[in-house]
Amino acid sequence: MEIFGKNVFNQTVMRERLPKGVFKNLKKTIDEGLPLDPTIADVVATAMKEWAVERGATHFTHWFQPMTGITAEKHDSFITPSENGVLMEFSGKELVKGEPDASSFPSGGLRATFEARGYTAWDCTSPAFLREEADVITLCIPTAFCSYTGEALDKKTPLLRSMEALSTQAVRVLRLFGNTTASRVTSTVGAEQEYFLVDKSFFLKRPDLMMAGRTLFGAMSSKGQELEDHYFGSIKERVLCYMKEVNEELWKLGVTAKTQHNEVAPGQFELAPIFENTNIATDHNQMVMDVLKRIALRHDLVCLLHEKPFAGVNGSGKHNNWSMSSNDGQNLLEPGHTPHENAQFLTFLMATIKAVDTYAGLLRCSCANAGNDHRLGANEAPPAIISIFLGEQLADILDQIVAGGAKSSSKSADMKIGVTTLPALPKDATDRNRTSPFAFTGNKFEFRMLGSSFSISGPNIIINTIIADALKGFADKLEKSKNFDADLEKLLQETAKKHKRVVFNGNNYSDEWVKEAKKRGLLNIPNTPQALKELVTKEAVALFVAHKVFNEKEIHSRYEIMVEQYVKALNIEALTMIDMANHSIIPTAIEYATTVASSINAVAAVSGKLNVSTQKELLEELSNKLASASSNVKALEKALESALNIADLEKQAAAFREKVFTKMLDLRADGDALEKIIGAKYWPLPTYGEMLFIL
Ligand code: ADP
Ligand code: MG
Repeated sequence: MEIFGKNVFNQTVMRERLPKGVFKNLKKTIDEGLPLDPTIADVVATAMKEWAVERGATHFTHWFQPMTGITAEKHDSFITPSENGVLMEFSGKELVKGEPDASSFPSGGLRATFEARGYTAWDCTSPAFLREEADVITLCIPTAFCSYTGEALDKKTPLLRSMEALSTQAVRVLRLFGNTTASRVTSTVGAEQEYFLVDKSFFLKRPDLMMAGRTLFGAMSSKGQELEDHYFGSIKERVLCYMKEVNEELWKLGVTAKTQHNEVAPGQFELAPIFENTNIATDHNQMVMDVLKRIALRHDLVCLLHEKPFAGVNGSGKHNNWSMSSNDGQNLLEPGHTPHENAQFLTFLMATIKAVDTYAGLLRCSCANAGNDHRLGANEAPPAIISIFLGEQLADILDQIVAGGAKSSSKSADMKIGVTTLPALPKDATDRNRTSPFAFTGNKFEFRMLGSSFSISGPNIIINTIIADALKGFADKLEKSKNFDADLEKLLQETAKKHKRVVFNGNNYSDEWVKEAKKRGLLNIPNTPQALKELVTKEAVALFVAHKVFNEKEIHSRYEIMVEQYVKALNIEALTMIDMANHSIIPTAIEYATTVASSINAVAAVSGKLNVSTQKELLEELSNKLASASSNVKALEKALESALNIADLEKQAAAFREKVFTKMLDLRADGDALEKIIGAKYWPLPTYGEMLFIL
């Protein structure tokens, strides 16, 4: 396909445009994760600039991922003064390092303003690309963002560190199995992205969608998703045209947008790319979110990435399909064909099980934000309890390992760890458990808890690090072993025994599971303020420090930023609700009540005998709801004020959750009740029916 990768400075373009020696040098740097040779930077920069300028670019930007969860950029033109006017120039120094300063991004105390300078550094493992917006073309250079003192201020740096940690430990384990060819192991990710589309005219009339990304009021429409007629239904023409343009934009950017379909809720859709290395998959997912939003506007649509834009229908998530592959071509989570391969597969599988059980709190924490609190545990997304789905056959093998030496059908002599050839594991949909938060799907795990608005960086930092840690534990033991086969068998048995509790193949949405999980001692963390605490437990800090993913200062600053983001999100929502209640819902209700009251008077003036009971009933209901709404607005204002006065951030977050959030629910109930009884022509907000069904 001609357009694929058209806007990417990829290896094909590099090979064409760089001197042979420079290309080889850069490729080695990229493939082996080596530090960049500074002497080639100028040559690469010039080639990159020439390519970009030929394509119409005038500016470049270091494209980075601060703690906001989205991307940031500061544009510079290539223009440099020269004797005869100006030249278009771009130096190696400009390519490799930027000083955007960017002191207003959240740093969680890592940067005092007097030392506020922040630096961006080129990540040559993720290709530079051109962004086209109307006729503005910008060269974007993926970069890491850190402070003057070298602390990570972004979501890329720790992700790269976690990939490094995983590679180191996974290679150690591969060596134990006699592998001498693999020198790196990379985690791979395919991120399925869900989103909603609404007509822009409705969006502009909803302050809640504009300010908070979700409806804070809104009575459910008479039809929702119960007929299941939207899920995988035929895609409407307007949406298809939108998707076509989204795909084209993404293909140009080298993003392998592959599948698209209608999702469960009306107005909800999904896009999935083909998996790739986690760093690039993370950059690409940021581009996916950006393109989804930008192209929507061209179609007079708005793309909502919030986890729960509409109450009463499904929210949006992101499925993070994860695996590991070695640079000698193996998917380490692919069951093998020989006993030897299977022993290796089971080792990596068991490391995953151990990691997920040991650090379930961190996984839960990695999916916590204000938006996702509406999903996790609310019967649509996976529950807040972390468990693993293995499928019947693997679960059976696990049981056999626990029992000590699985008996296999084959009588092969070189039977290792009790298992000879594993049966081919089915990958088809029938064996899928769609309620599990962490499901094995044949040759990868699908982590399903992520919210749709997330940067996938956070969850993957956690997955990479915890699995690196489990693998380290295995390697530490087995490297000392005198009898590898016997010791491996023992290790797998011990691990299986200890961590089997995290495996659950049943319905994760059932109440029985909640009880059962409690019996098994599994965590069930209900909300963000509590989940975030998992990031800074003693064990978590030790883990991050040991694998050099975060230092202590970095992890605490991140915690602070995330708690602050939660508080800010709820503060914006509460303020928006108060605003909507005071400026639109309550005045509308008063206006309507006045009309109803004057109708009673008008009828009475004509004849006192005519029946006005309908109007009277309605008026009574209206004034009750009005009174309740206005008292709940006051209660919300009060709760908000006292929460804002709490100095301790953790206590403040708890107050927002326990006091402010509950008052918001009360006020919403009043608003929605009023919506149901107020005449349509008076109601100032687009309804759920309009927003969900008119596309
Ligand atoms: P679902 O049935 O959950 O909708 P899809 O087939 O739509 O699943 O998506 C599966 C995703 O998993 C795709 O993005 C695919 O590229 C990705 N995937 C497949 N193999 C791997 C792997 N080895 N590592 C990571 N992701 C993978
Ligand atoms: Mg999926």
